[in-house]
Amino acid sequence: MVLVVGGGDVAARKVSLLLRAGARVRVVSPELSVSLQGYCDNGRVEHISANYDDSHATDAALIIAATDDMTVNRQVYEAAKQRGVPVNVADAPELCTFILPSIIDRSPVVVAVSTGGASPTLGRLLRARLETMIPHSYGRLADLARRFREPVKKRFKSMSQRRHFWETVVEGPVAEMVYANRDEQAELALQQAIDQADSEQLAKGEVYLVGAGPGDPDLLSFRALRLMQVVDVVLYDRLVSPQILDLVRREAEQIYVGKKRSYHSVRQEEINRLLVDLAKQGKRVLRLKGGDPFIFGRGGEEISGLADEGIPFQVVPGVTAAAGCASYAGIPLTHRDYAQSVMFVTGQLKDGSVDLQWQALAQPRQTVVVYMGLAGLEIICNKLIEHGVSPDMPAALVQQGTTVSQRVFSGNLSNLSQLVSEHEVHAPTLLIIGEVVQLHERFGWYQPTG
Ligand code: SAH
Repeated sequence: MVLVVGGGDVAARKVSLLLRAGARVRVVSPELSVSLQGYCDNGRVEHISANYDDSHATDAALIIAATDDMTVNRQVYEAAKQRGVPVNVADAPELCTFILPSIIDRSPVVVAVSTGGASPTLGRLLRARLETMIPHSYGRLADLARRFREPVKKRFKSMSQRRHFWETVVEGPVAEMVYANRDEQAELALQQAIDQADSEQLAKGEVYLVGAGPGDPDLLSFRALRLMQVVDVVLYDRLVSPQILDLVRREAEQIYVGKKRSYHSVRQEEINRLLVDLAKQGKRVLRLKGGDPFIFGRGGEEISGLADEGIPFQVVPGVTAAAGCASYAGIPLTHRDYAQSVMFVTGQLKDGSVDLQWQALAQPRQTVVVYMGLAGLEIICNKLIEHGVSPDMPAALVQQGTTVSQRVFSGNLSNLSQLVSEHEVHAPTLLIIGEVVQLHERFGWYQPTG
């Protein structure tokens, strides 16, 4: 039995939820609101018309206090504590041993939203949003799935096959039929799907090479997010932010393959082989890379082994660092007044020197973006000046672009390296050189405060 102390609207809301969950409810209050009176009249709630005293709590399994008298609420709380019975006092988080989150009820599917008492309004807002996103027929879909759990278990041996099967069901025509209230048809279709499913196809591995963008999780594509949530294992490296990793299916195995510069080639071969091996075990493998997989991401090398072995794969583009950093630093990479082209180059040192086509980089009316350019920053600036670019040419270094730690150091070819050396700079950083960089002053809209 659940004891509810109080007879007003708040109590009525709690009682309504309790009844929906199948509880036996006793209300203690000298007076009742209209809706509570209704529940009592049709026998769904037992009413004790009195002021609360501790004897009312004797056989309660759960207690809720919702009176507007804090002394009474506290008395209820103390009584519950003494008996070791869970208690919730409305609007007083410090007097609660459990919380009542807002729920989105699609029984048997239930989603709960709680802000831990910090902001019920925020909780309600989120709940309203989720209400519109989750079809009302989810409950019936779950019931249907429950009826077929055993037959599916018998039909498919491995857990991963079963999971693949259920994913096609809950995202495919069977679900659509349920949403359209054609439940009988859905049941037939599901039976048919079980009979006809190609278990070999379901056991086949696949690799998704996905660009995670430069850091801000909001920059992920819908496709990236969808694939991130169906995989069995994820291989990620240093550039993938923890917030993005959080969005990968929780049960997926996580393998860190962050590269150390000196072991690059060896490690790369290992990664390539790992992708093939995992896919051959029938796994769906996510290869999650910073930025875009095909821009200084070795994406081509990673899928080459897959192509040789006939393993299916997909490549999902991501926002590359140049695009992300430029947007968040307010530096348009092309602009009719300043630059008609843009060049992406890598500034990684080769044999101790920076090996770039300086003549091509020194052309006017273009923007040059240098990935991995921090170590060689000074050399790059000097070489460009040597090849005829003005020492006053604007240049900027964007640190951890698009993240809350973004910083932009802006100057010109002759002073940028000095400016940067005066600060503690954290990787990753991107170097942007060109007239367009001066627009950062006016257009730098993203000012994270950390
Ligand atoms: N495939 C990635 C690039 C990988 S190379 C992409 O498309 O963005 C790694 C380099 O990318 C880093 O050394 C740095 O120059 C750049 N980079 C990646 N993320 C960055 C970020 N958030 N801010 C600044 N530079 C970044």
